[in-house]
Amino acid sequence: MTLISHIINGQETSGDTGLRQPVYNPATGEVSGHVALGETREVDAAVRAAEAAFPAWSATPPAKRAAIMFNLRRIMQTRADEIARTISAEHGKTHDDALGEVTRALEVVEFACGIADKLKGDFSRDVGPGIDSCAERQTLGVVAGITPFNFPSMVPLWMIPMALACGNTFVLKPSERDPSSANLIFDLLREAGLPDGVLNIVHGGKAAVDALLDHPVVQAVSFVGSTPIARYIYTRGCAAGKRVQALGGAKNHMIILPDADLDQAVDALMGAGFGSAGERCMAISVAVPVGEETADRLVEKLTPKVAALNIGPPSDPEAEMGPVITAEAKERIESLISAGEAEGAQVLVDGRGYKLQGYEGGFWVGGTLLDRVTEDMTVYREEIFGPVLSVLRAPSYDHAVDLINKHQYGNGTALFTRDGDAARDFARRIQVGMVGINVPIPVPVGYHSFGGWKQSSFGGHGIYGPEAIHFYTRLKTVTSRWPTGIRAGAEFNFPTME
Ligand code: NAD
Repeated sequence: MTLISHIINGQETSGDTGLRQPVYNPATGEVSGHVALGETREVDAAVRAAEAAFPAWSATPPAKRAAIMFNLRRIMQTRADEIARTISAEHGKTHDDALGEVTRALEVVEFACGIADKLKGDFSRDVGPGIDSCAERQTLGVVAGITPFNFPSMVPLWMIPMALACGNTFVLKPSERDPSSANLIFDLLREAGLPDGVLNIVHGGKAAVDALLDHPVVQAVSFVGSTPIARYIYTRGCAAGKRVQALGGAKNHMIILPDADLDQAVDALMGAGFGSAGERCMAISVAVPVGEETADRLVEKLTPKVAALNIGPPSDPEAEMGPVITAEAKERIESLISAGEAEGAQVLVDGRGYKLQGYEGGFWVGGTLLDRVTEDMTVYREEIFGPVLSVLRAPSYDHAVDLINKHQYGNGTALFTRDGDAARDFARRIQVGMVGINVPIPVPVGYHSFGGWKQSSFGGHGIYGPEAIHFYTRLKTVTSRWPTGIRAGAEFNFPTME
């Protein structure tokens, strides 16, 4: 059986702890391999390798670092199918969905290809007599990334291309539930020409994360995962003096106004609610139709579609969604559906106890549709992260907006309407970081930045795109004067450049 090892200074190693954790094929429930679990020693070795690689890598001209990103882009395009298969084998998402993940990751690589231009500084001549000033962004040093299970390739690639292109060296601690994609990313970058030690991978759980957060050499930490862990990472990392960006969970609402094209809205809800079995931080998990008539029409159209969802393993080209990640995730999602039912939600389509012939051991949850969900219900307050769509009926547009603004999460949201005024008002007033107008999953493209508000993000830095350049570099301003401009004698007043 496969052992998924750490990669430190270009070498595979299973580390010293002797600890292992099974990795599953979620479609069958069978163990497909084991992942080595690193702790303090493995993290220290990885950080030291990154520290040793830093001087040469940060001194490599940005255009040469970009050349490696160009190579990576070509290799990823050529090997996209293999990357997608590696994702699906441990995550369970459909092959086409995994290919979509690869495409979105490629956007970040493409942005990183332009790093030489992005790192250009500012120069001002004659800020005072004979005085010039220049501002540049310098690289940080060793930075770390801690990533979730749901995009085992894309989320590490939200971080790695940008951090490396900016001249940093990197230690990745991927999700221990689907760790093989991270090792494949390493292989791709090695093939692209990345020197040893620039990217290191330590597998593991909390002990490895804590060792990274406490390590004095690590300058910055990027985290993507659930909100309680994001808050913890932010607090502990900042207390250790690091720069931290920590992106958390979500509860994304889609408002459907009475004038919306209902068929379009229903299709959008199906894809955004059930694609990847709802295991996306940008999944729509709450539909908010405005007015009882809109709600009745929406629910009438949605119900048969949810009941007819085509569920299957990644090898089934017709499948619209796959299993959930683990047996525990299945149990948690099913118990949340039961909590919703007990609190008064109407279960219109029930995905509990779903079985797929030939895959009886898999972690399946069927598509679930809950109607008449209210604000006080657990199923509304908490992130479910499964194929469960709640319908919360709002009496008015203002009520729907208030609902979203009051929610603890603020990752993504969408409005479906034909009314430009309402759309404009929504985009301005809504307390959410990523907004879609007739676009259900408004994930920004690679040359913008991704980031939520409120409990969906800690640290105020967006991930990838222009915000990543700021996160992975720091500002230096040099003010210079040459001898002819220097007057004799000490100046005791605050300098005014005169
Ligand atoms: P998770 O928080 O359980 O795990 C994320 C990472 O944190 C993993 O690498 C894990 O090993 C580590 N971790 C887990 N428990 C820890 C602990 N106690 N101490 C230290 N580290 C710990 O998240 P997940 O279940 O892998 O991913 C799903 C979550 O991620 C969902 O909440 C989803 O909304 C969120 N997510 C958010 C975004 C975003 O951009 N905002 C993107 C993808 C996923």
